[in-house]
Amino acid sequence: MTIQAVVFDWAGTTIDYGSRAPIIAFQRAFAHFGITVPEPVIRADVGLDKEQHIAKIFGEPMAWTVWQAAGYGHDRDAAVQAVYAQFKLEIQRVLTETATLKPGLTTLLDYLNLHHVAIASTSGYTADMIAQVAPVAAEQGYQPEINVTSELTGGVGRPQGDMLNYAMQVLHVTNPQNVIKVGDTVNDILEGANAGAISVGVLEGSNVVGLAEPEYVNLTPADRQQVLADARRVFMDAGADAVVDTLPDLIPLIERFNVAEQQTAPLLLTPGPLTTSRMVKETMLVDHGTWDDEYKAVTEDVRRDLLRVGQANPQDYTTVLMQGSGSFAVEATLQTAIPSDGTVLIAINGAYGQRMATMADRIGIRHLDVDFGELNQVTLQPVLTVLAEHPEVTHFAMVHSETTTGILNPLVPIIPELTARGIVTIVDAMSSFGGVPLEIDAVGMDYLISSANKCIQGVPGFAFVIAKRAVLAQTAGRARSLSLDLYDQWRCFENNAGKWRFTSPTHTVYAFHQALHELFVEGGVRARTNRYARNEVRLRKGMASLGFEPLIAEVAQSPIITSFKYPHADFDLTAFYHALKDEGFIIYPGKVSAAASFRIGNIGEVYDGDVDRLLDVVSRYVEQPAPVR
Ligand SMILES: *Cc1c(COP(=O)(O)O)cnc(C)c1O
Repeated sequence: MTIQAVVFDWAGTTIDYGSRAPIIAFQRAFAHFGITVPEPVIRADVGLDKEQHIAKIFGEPMAWTVWQAAGYGHDRDAAVQAVYAQFKLEIQRVLTETATLKPGLTTLLDYLNLHHVAIASTSGYTADMIAQVAPVAAEQGYQPEINVTSELTGGVGRPQGDMLNYAMQVLHVTNPQNVIKVGDTVNDILEGANAGAISVGVLEGSNVVGLAEPEYVNLTPADRQQVLADARRVFMDAGADAVVDTLPDLIPLIERFNVAEQQTAPLLLTPGPLTTSRMVKETMLVDHGTWDDEYKAVTEDVRRDLLRVGQANPQDYTTVLMQGSGSFAVEATLQTAIPSDGTVLIAINGAYGQRMATMADRIGIRHLDVDFGELNQVTLQPVLTVLAEHPEVTHFAMVHSETTTGILNPLVPIIPELTARGIVTIVDAMSSFGGVPLEIDAVGMDYLISSANKCIQGVPGFAFVIAKRAVLAQTAGRARSLSLDLYDQWRCFENNAGKWRFTSPTHTVYAFHQALHELFVEGGVRARTNRYARNEVRLRKGMASLGFEPLIAEVAQSPIITSFKYPHADFDLTAFYHALKDEGFIIYPGKVSAAASFRIGNIGEVYDGDVDRLLDVVSRYVEQPAPVR
């Protein structure tokens, strides 16, 4: 996403349709001293720092004459201070009266949260005024990450860009060209331009239009067009980069910036590594020492947050991070969890279940395999049948989302049934964790394994194991390998406040920390599942209409990755792959032996519009005449 942050103005932009609050408060403040100020005079400079604004109104001969005639003295500064003091009293009352969110704001906020775009505000208001307004807005669902006032910038307000720069620093956004400043006054536009950001004016409900909602709604269509055209010109003359009619109109604008970026960077439609957000990537521009307290605290944050993502109780569960790819953590778990006299039963319906069997062979762990075939879900009965014949089984391992095909295997009732029989359970949830809701407490598996570069949307470099403390605690000294000793790794984190054993992937950890933050902002696992599932359905339906049949029945299909059969026997996957790559999409070859197929991932920074663009490219590919050989 090119756009990393949107910085909003308050009155007239996000709340207070028509920007009534300052007008009413200014009028009441001057009226307190017997001065009547016409609304257009006030409107002309709304958005300025308030004291400057008052001084400007006193620049009107009428106001200044009345002030002096009333015997309030001839000191212009004292006059400004007196009216400003009164204004502060008046605005207190007016602010909360007018702090209703403007129509369409929540639609825009949902979009920004979903796409991990940070949200901040700058304002001509003082911190006191913000303290009045912000809670009222928060109650209605609007809560910027930071509200900047000129108190934070040494008194330098609009039209300078200092407040915007301050907000960017807090949000860790370095390039102002990735920031949209949205406002409803000329001073907002100037502020954005002075900070080097993209300045956008919003028309409806703005100060520039200057109408309360009923007044605006009652305009004839022709008058409304005229009013909007005039206001648009005011924004454009002030140097706006764009002007939108309403707040939700910002969404297509952001999408356009987004598409422009994607034309230079391919979109990975793969099961990980996948396309990450720009903020995740930018986090890696800083180097960190592994002994640093801040870094250790970030590591502890990550360990804790992962339990939250997996709905695992921290009393019962703990997180062990492990350098390397996902397989490293699977292997570490197998050879730490299973003692030399143990036997593991492995449920297999794809390459990743098979990989666990291969690891067991290498480590020298006795294993029994239950093979379900590549196109079927894992089920309980065959597992119980083998178990009945083999009382020596101590451990059980299965894959949750089998990335080979995109099959989602049910964990319930399988895991609880085995736990009830005293068997230690291991779940490879590599490609599902964070992308499919998992209630670790409720399922009760002993070990769950996933990695940084799958549904949490981090970059490759480490994997993690969520383990039952009591079970892991019994595994001291069991590991056959030093580096892959899960127990020792765990003790190092626990005994040293988050210190990794051996060199850790610092950049990856910081990127992952940011990715977790973005997952929570998106609305957590459930919101992310919904997005992935939407991508999946859109993709499966769209591809089917273009002649590509899905490999897996809908009931067993995970929202993570979808396999498609070749549409005909002489389908050329290499040519297809390159045609898509030329258009900026990277897909994945098939991995099943049963049928010629390829896979398309639905995870990562992938949204409805991306799926539509892909389908468009595929449809053009399908419709082109066959090459002459
Ligand atoms: C990605 C993945 C793995 C681990 O693969 P690595 O290449 O080692 O990261 C294991 N199991 C499943 C189900 C996966 O999707």
